[in-house]
Amino acid sequence: MPGKSIPAELASDFRRRLIRWFRRHGRDLPWRRTRDPYHVLVSEFMLQQTQVSRVEDYYARFVARWPTVDALAGADPAMVRESWDGLGYYRRAANLHRLARAVVARGGGIPSDPGELVRLPGIGRYTAGAVASFAFERATPAVDTNVARVLRRAFQPRLQASAGSRRVWELAAAIIPRRRGAAAWAFNQAIMELGATICTARVAHCPACPVRAVCTTGRRRAGSGRA
Ligand code: SF4
Repeated sequence: MPGKSIPAELASDFRRRLIRWFRRHGRDLPWRRTRDPYHVLVSEFMLQQTQVSRVEDYYARFVARWPTVDALAGADPAMVRESWDGLGYYRRAANLHRLARAVVARGGGIPSDPGELVRLPGIGRYTAGAVASFAFERATPAVDTNVARVLRRAFQPRLQASAGSRRVWELAAAIIPRRRGAAAWAFNQAIMELGATICTARVAHCPACPVRAVCTTGRRRAGSGRA
């Protein structure tokens, strides 16, 4: 379906299968138990370039030490850096600290609108969408490399999709639930989870995939007898 939207029935089937699978099989991660926008932001900064298993411990320690955006804004930069020690890519810590200071300086807390979020230090389009969705349950796409891969394989296998490509963001906007709420949150978590655990960069585990029946690549493989 080059350049076209996803047919409504297909989109709805894809969402239903994906969310149902996620509710049964999604990993129980600490940042999935909160809607605190500051805690979601911390997790998103930590997860950039770092595996989930490494982030879990650091996340718990960091939010215990700096539990609010105000606490982080008032922290000494050296202390913030110390809390990040061992996690690597220290520019993330500096950016998060700058962001906390910017949020406190402007007042009003962490915004829920992706257009406002993206103007804060260290926040790109993906992180803006992730915070809007995971903290505020907004029906906003959040396309990282995992999501881009799933969308491409499911709907447009010939597309050379990166997380930054316009077409892949269009697909994400077309498939996400229309209204904000628990389903929008679960959809974005679920599609990331699928890309991280089943439809991975190394191999697509189509026989184990909950959306195989509505995925272009999965159906093609099933038809050709390939796993
Ligand atoms: S059916 Fe295969 S290609 Fe399609 S989303 Fe699932 S794992 Fe990925």
